[in-house]
Amino acid sequence: MLPAYFDHNATTPLDERVLQAMLPFFREHYGNASSRHEYGRTARKAVDDAREQVADRVGAHPSQVVFVSGGTEANNLLIKGAAARCQPSQIAVSAVEHPSVTKPAQALRERGWKVRKLAVDSAGRLEMDDLKIALHESATGLVSVMLANNETGVVQDVAAVAEQARGAGAMVHTDAVQALGKMPVSFAALNVHAMTISAHKVYGPKGIGALVLNKRLDIQPQITGGEHEKGLRAGTENVPAIVGFGAACALAAGRLIELPPRLLQMRERMDQGLRTMGAVLFGDGAECLANTRYFAIPGIDGETLVMALDRAGFAVASGSACGSGGTDPSPTLLAMGVERELARCAVRVSLGKDNEMSQIEGFLLALQGEILGLKRRVAI
Ligand code: PLP
Repeated sequence: MLPAYFDHNATTPLDERVLQAMLPFFREHYGNASSRHEYGRTARKAVDDAREQVADRVGAHPSQVVFVSGGTEANNLLIKGAAARCQPSQIAVSAVEHPSVTKPAQALRERGWKVRKLAVDSAGRLEMDDLKIALHESATGLVSVMLANNETGVVQDVAAVAEQARGAGAMVHTDAVQALGKMPVSFAALNVHAMTISAHKVYGPKGIGALVLNKRLDIQPQITGGEHEKGLRAGTENVPAIVGFGAACALAAGRLIELPPRLLQMRERMDQGLRTMGAVLFGDGAECLANTRYFAIPGIDGETLVMALDRAGFAVASGSACGSGGTDPSPTLLAMGVERELARCAVRVSLGKDNEMSQIEGFLLALQGEILGLKRRVAI
């Protein structure tokens, strides 16, 4: 039997209804959306419809949605593309951003930009005072702060960030990849210039995402060739994936009402169990996605525990999926002031729509057993 899946922040299973919506575009509707004939027109209409579904889900206008290959590309397109169109100045990013934001930001150093990491508190919330200082210290061209963190699930007050940053004349970007489908997300209400989203975190297909972009923002395309996506992203559209993204967004709307309270109930039961086992809960006290719990059992290595839990029938993560495999502790936890030793013990559980309370009970039992076993082994 497959392990219970508790790793929805890494990726989500494809919703069967999304798959059904996609299948005709692998089969009979295989036209190129740029073609003028009927095959092409059918594909183009499907892309346009999906663009509306995506825009609708995130409170944007369809013309603001630029389809790209995923969250990583959207973050790269915005950071590199916006920077290319203005004079080098400062880029300020939170200290807990995903590597697909921090790496392109660091790469701007070569183009004369100054990179400023914005501090977070011990619960992982952005220090608004540090943002104020950063904006005051140096002329800032771009600020990027994620809406919800992939490891801790901590939600940032991006609207407040946007207000401050705009006041200082900076462009504002938010990576909303983890927030989409888990909490209301409104491009208009957040008042940012650009926002990143991705389909595979919301029961859609992998390899498709979007940069939602204020049309007044001039950015340089990073992939050039054809005039696809209004010249911002060349390459024949991945029509089945775009259709799947649209369908996933349409389905996410209904789920937003029912799902978070159900997940929260499960997470609260889990938190209660974790506390009795002496776990340290990261991000505790901060506003957090209902599905996410990042924790550590002091003295038990996170990677080892993840492998033990996998054998016991539970698929969890030892940090962000992209970071897994490395031995370095999570930069997010270090930014929150967590000791390296404890950060190495971190394990992330991220729940999803198909999880049930009985799985949480099973998980807590299994965890207790594994902790006892591993502690005994350490003692020998
Ligand atoms: N941003 C965040 C916060 C993420 O969690 C991820 C994926 O884990 C990404 C960006 C990258 O998205 P994608 O996998 O679609 O490239």
